Amino acid sequence: MSVEEFKKHTERKLEAVRCPDHRQPPRLKFQGATLRDVTIQMSGCCSKLLELANRAIADRQ
Ligand SMILES: [Zn+2]
Repeated sequence: MSVEEFKKHTERKLEAVRCPDHRQPPRLKFQGATLRDVTIQMSGCCSKLLELANRAIADRQ
């Protein structure tokens, strides 16, 4: 998998994620040029959204 594929894959997992309180999607920021170095920074309107987003990313399907 390339970094680009990883990004797309991750973004797809989060497409349906919205904060139940504020109706906001999470924001993603990727850092690192290779798959080995890549890290994801997530930000959102509140901790509830970040929790949902983390769960969606951890879900391997
Ligand atoms: Zn929220």
